[in-house]
Amino acid sequence: MKRVAHGEPIKNITARELAVFYCGQQRTLFLMYPSDMTFISSFPLRPSNRGGNDTMNKQVLIDAAIRFTRSSEENIISDPVALSESVKGLVIFDDPIFSFARADDDLFSTLKKPSVIGEHFLLPHEWLEGAKTVISFFLPFSEAVRTSNSRESTWPSDGWLHGRIEGQAFLKSMCLKLQDDLAEAGFRSIIPLTDSRFRSRSGPGKTRDEAGKGGQGIPYYTSNWSERHIAWVCGLGSFGLSRGLVTSKGVAGRFGSLVTDLQVEPDGERHESFLSFCSSCGSCIKNCPVNAISFEHGKDQDICSKFQDEIKEKFKPRYGCGKCQVGVPCEKNMPGRRGKI
Ligand code: SF4
Ligand code: SF4
Repeated sequence: MKRVAHGEPIKNITARELAVFYCGQQRTLFLMYPSDMTFISSFPLRPSNRGGNDTMNKQVLIDAAIRFTRSSEENIISDPVALSESVKGLVIFDDPIFSFARADDDLFSTLKKPSVIGEHFLLPHEWLEGAKTVISFFLPFSEAVRTSNSRESTWPSDGWLHGRIEGQAFLKSMCLKLQDDLAEAGFRSIIPLTDSRFRSRSGPGKTRDEAGKGGQGIPYYTSNWSERHIAWVCGLGSFGLSRGLVTSKGVAGRFGSLVTDLQVEPDGERHESFLSFCSSCGSCIKNCPVNAISFEHGKDQDICSKFQDEIKEKFKPRYGCGKCQVGVPCEKNMPGRRGKI
């Protein structure tokens, strides 16, 4: 069998001697020897290879996401998984909102500062070579999910528990749907959350000071792609005292993102203050069952995390709390309105 060096033109190999794999995320064909799966060569499929990519734009993606949210069975709690009668048929999310940022936006680099996320944060082009745009979206929890959780003062409601688990599964499906649509139009994309390079960690039971840096020099309670920080850079909102991101649809919901080589005009509103949309009303402080939030320090991640562990034990395999996100002025609105950058 003739061996071919990487990059060498392929000659004199019959089809039976080739295995061809396609990676949708990288939009690349990989050629291998089927006998021992040795790598032969790869062929990235660029948009220019396909020609017709000018029908894809922001509005097409937004419309597709809204249609998916309204029509997907995954956005509804089915009878077999429902934790109680009251949540059968529950719709998890309302329509999503989107913001788009340039992949080379300087604000992404600021997330590498130790005081923000740290060096372990991966920039858009580190996820996807040739990245042009970061797409960030927020899926607000439906009124049924939010109100169910605000009726219970200590433990998460069944609706909220579903929102965290089935809701997150729906969010991933929506990312995959958008990735498919982008690929169909000839664009590459990466979903950091589902990528094998995604890392997150937390240090339950340890204070920030005790934990300092983890074994790999990475602080506790961190990840190399923080959806809330990405949404902030993209201009979807600004942080609240409870450390949730307050958007025009409030704070109660889930964030997702994709990095793509589709180029679009950035949008979203940048805000000069970390807490631009938070009115500092203190309602989240009162709602927290374990006093994890204060005006002085914001959210104490250790206290919150210990309580989340208790919830995981009590409701396993489900979890979630969110009392600081419901029954508060920022639950579904943007109460603060201070200067833009
Ligand atoms: S409840 Fe009030 S203080 Fe807490 S994040 Fe929302 S607006 Fe800010
Ligand atoms: S998630 Fe729960 S425990 Fe954590 S800060 Fe919010 S209300 Fe407190």
